[in-house]
Amino acid sequence: MATKASSKKAVKSKSSAKAKTAKKTVKGKKWVYLFEEVKAAEKYAGNWEGVRSLLGGKGSGLADMTRAGVPVPPGFTVSTEACNEFRKAGKFPKGQWDQQVVAMKSVEKNAGKKFGDPNNPLLVSCRSGAKFSMPGMMNTILNIGLNDKVVDGMIKTTNNPRFVWDLYRRLIEMFGTTVFNLDDEVFEHPMAEYKASKGYKVDTEMTGDDWKALVSTFKEVFKKHVGFDFPQDVYKQLELATQAVFESWMGKRAIDYRRATGISDDLGTAVNIQTMVFGNTGNDSGTGVAFTRNPSTGDQKMMGEYLLNAQGEDVVAGIRNADPIEHLVNNMPAVYKQFMGITKKLEKHYQDMQDVEFTIERGKLWMLQTRNGKRTAKSTVKIAVDMANEKLISKDDAVLRVTPEVVDALLHPQFNESEMKKAEGEGKFFAKGVNASPGAAVGQVYFDADTSERMAKEEKQQTIMVRPFTKPDDVHGMISAQGVLTSEGGATSHAAVVARQFGIPCVVGASSIKIDLEKRIMTVGDVVVKEGEWISVDGNTGKVFLGKIATSAPTLEEQTELLTLLKWADEISSRKDIRKAPKGWPTRGLQVWANADYPKDAQRARAYGAVGIGLCRTEHMFFEPERLPIVQDMILSGTSEGRTAALDKLLPYQRKDFDGLFEAMDGYPVIIRLIDPPLHEFMPDEEKLLEEVITMRVKGETDGLDKKEQLLASIKGLHESNPMMGLRGVRLSISMPEIVEMQVRAIFEAAADCTLRGIVVKPEVMIPLTGTVKELEWIQPRLERIASAVMGEKKVKFEYKFGTMVEIPRAAVTAKEVATHAEFFSFGTNDLTQMTFGYSRDDAERNFLVTYVQEGILPKNPFQTLDRDGVGKLMQWAITEGRKTRPNLEVGICGEHGGDPDSIEWCHLIGNNYVSCSPFRVPIARLAAAHVALKYSGQSIAEDK
Ligand code: PEP
Ligand code: MG
Repeated sequence: MATKASSKKAVKSKSSAKAKTAKKTVKGKKWVYLFEEVKAAEKYAGNWEGVRSLLGGKGSGLADMTRAGVPVPPGFTVSTEACNEFRKAGKFPKGQWDQQVVAMKSVEKNAGKKFGDPNNPLLVSCRSGAKFSMPGMMNTILNIGLNDKVVDGMIKTTNNPRFVWDLYRRLIEMFGTTVFNLDDEVFEHPMAEYKASKGYKVDTEMTGDDWKALVSTFKEVFKKHVGFDFPQDVYKQLELATQAVFESWMGKRAIDYRRATGISDDLGTAVNIQTMVFGNTGNDSGTGVAFTRNPSTGDQKMMGEYLLNAQGEDVVAGIRNADPIEHLVNNMPAVYKQFMGITKKLEKHYQDMQDVEFTIERGKLWMLQTRNGKRTAKSTVKIAVDMANEKLISKDDAVLRVTPEVVDALLHPQFNESEMKKAEGEGKFFAKGVNASPGAAVGQVYFDADTSERMAKEEKQQTIMVRPFTKPDDVHGMISAQGVLTSEGGATSHAAVVARQFGIPCVVGASSIKIDLEKRIMTVGDVVVKEGEWISVDGNTGKVFLGKIATSAPTLEEQTELLTLLKWADEISSRKDIRKAPKGWPTRGLQVWANADYPKDAQRARAYGAVGIGLCRTEHMFFEPERLPIVQDMILSGTSEGRTAALDKLLPYQRKDFDGLFEAMDGYPVIIRLIDPPLHEFMPDEEKLLEEVITMRVKGETDGLDKKEQLLASIKGLHESNPMMGLRGVRLSISMPEIVEMQVRAIFEAAADCTLRGIVVKPEVMIPLTGTVKELEWIQPRLERIASAVMGEKKVKFEYKFGTMVEIPRAAVTAKEVATHAEFFSFGTNDLTQMTFGYSRDDAERNFLVTYVQEGILPKNPFQTLDRDGVGKLMQWAITEGRKTRPNLEVGICGEHGGDPDSIEWCHLIGNNYVSCSPFRVPIARLAAAHVALKYSGQSIAEDK
């Protein structure tokens, strides 16, 4: 059986009879909107967003273009509401079909043709069109309205039998494959056989008689597989086609795509029924697709392709090599001028880059579709910035148009220039194609979507999917791959469009590559790449290399448009009136600070736009090879004096570290956290040491044995059953204050030295893991005395603060008291999440969190995205209570959540002053901060009352 799914469709209904009796006006709910009825749609849906939901992106675009006076072939849209009713009941809702028939009468009038009339036939297309574009994922049927009689009539009127028979065979084929789910193969096989019998290589060699013969064959094929004759009743064709489009909303391809893009199943698709216009009636006709700006680079130049004497799918499929759009000026200057004028108008109207489809029928231009074009991350930013500079949109809109994910993608790895040159020198260059979607991809080659997906998902391989060209069925393979390579097709081919949308590096049309799908190899000359071998695909240059090439992350400095955009984002966040708040609370938006331990990280953070260091984990500095032995000596010494002696040796190192940080952050605050982890983390591994000791004892080696045994005993002494809840943070500082006393001295000596060199320092000393204000009461005054002493010794003064991390729920709950000592709070949401949920931050992901998220017990991983209801509530309470004591309490976040857009939104809403994240995430956080500022502009901070 050749059917992919059930082909049992009812064919008994009396659509034709119904068509004849349908009244001119149909009462009840409106399911069908003529393109001219956009006002009625607006009235019903309330606003344009509602119209897009009702009529889908394509339908609303066609209606909007019709209103704007753009030449659009007449037609109508069956609403998404009808689709949703159909999905529920398994049949068209009451009134829909009658309304479709009435609408057809109106289309006939506008087109001056009649559906099913052999002497002047109207042919229509039936296309899907959801609210959000899902390119190629649902059904399209063209040339509806042809039957044996109409074909005869059309041959007489057009005097072009070849054209008419070709249309008819396309209709029968499309009807079989899309409406009745037959495999393409059942039609392709006899066609290939026919061509071979005639010795033809390409379709253009087929004559009218050849197509006629093939129509007979196709009809037989249709009957054999479907069980009845191809429907001659044109209204029956229309009814079945409409139904097939509705059904394709729940097809596997469409569902997979929606899962990957987060589109809801509830939206449904609209169906657009539109007069067919033909680009394949001779050399005064043609068809094409174009983007009003370059979707890959963002350049302000139209990019498109067209083919003379061709149908639309010939261009989109990328099978025939199309001409660049600018050549149209030579073939049809007037049409080209009109086209450029219309597209300019459309871009202005939609205030965005448009992706248009057009057809020229005997010298007349028709616009078939316009929609906001899909684009790469790079062009998203460039187009947004350019359009703001052109005053087409505001700077605020430009910032809103770029999502944090886009910024993330822009900072993704690229191939090293020098590595690529080296590879070329070593003869590893393999092929070159069109650079369709930027980025560097390294992976193992697989020649079909299923294998590529399986290898990526089950074998955890990095894959590159290689195909002659891709089809919508291949999307699952593409999205699981690192990169995509095709040997055919151009910059607007399916592979290129989908890859750009998902940010997958992609090279298309590398025509020197011969792919042998049976032998599972690809070759260029005598170079052979077998399935499973590694290649490197460069979506920026279109080059493909054998083997693996090293990648590196691009620098922000090179990306001028992104820098401009981020500058605008910062301007938005720093607007004074963005938040309404009580006196002392922040009324501007969030600042973005960075977590950085070393001067070089701080320099990067600053270059990426951080305006403070929110967390320097000082203990990382203790692990440097020359320092660790000193730290261990300090831990091993049983007395305060012994510890101080070792710490004296560490002090110069720490002072130097802090000096570098202050210098890098000249003028900005730097938060330095005092030692946090339990001491055993600085000691050698207990098991390994025990093994060494036993081996020495067995072998009778004595040299150094004493020291090792002593060390082992101390490690055993430091052992805790639950070290994360043990002697660490402020508890450790209270037990051994010498360590933090040294650290504070180092901080203030460095700050003083920097001040003397003219650097503006703003040190903030952060005490970790506070659970009760009494801890601060005990330690903070001692440390403040050291700070004052150093400033006295060095005879300098500068701003400084002492504050605490809020990582333990009790600190958050008692924030009012904690703030009596702490001058700032920084939420350590890694520990705060761990302790609020009671989930180990080291083990939960591996053990059960993934299942929790899969099962919907938790909406997201709370270690990545703040749990607003629990951890977030504690934060909100802590801020409200803390500011009761100290209205201008500085509040930040330095857990991993500080770089997560959703968590950033929460921080804005509850009144944080800043978020702090890794330097690489600073640009993302800057953009996310501006987005939330605009989204909630002028709203009050949500206090916990
Ligand atoms: C935290 O707990 O969120 C934090 C930043 O500290 P650390 O990750 O070092 O425990
Ligand atoms: Mg912590």
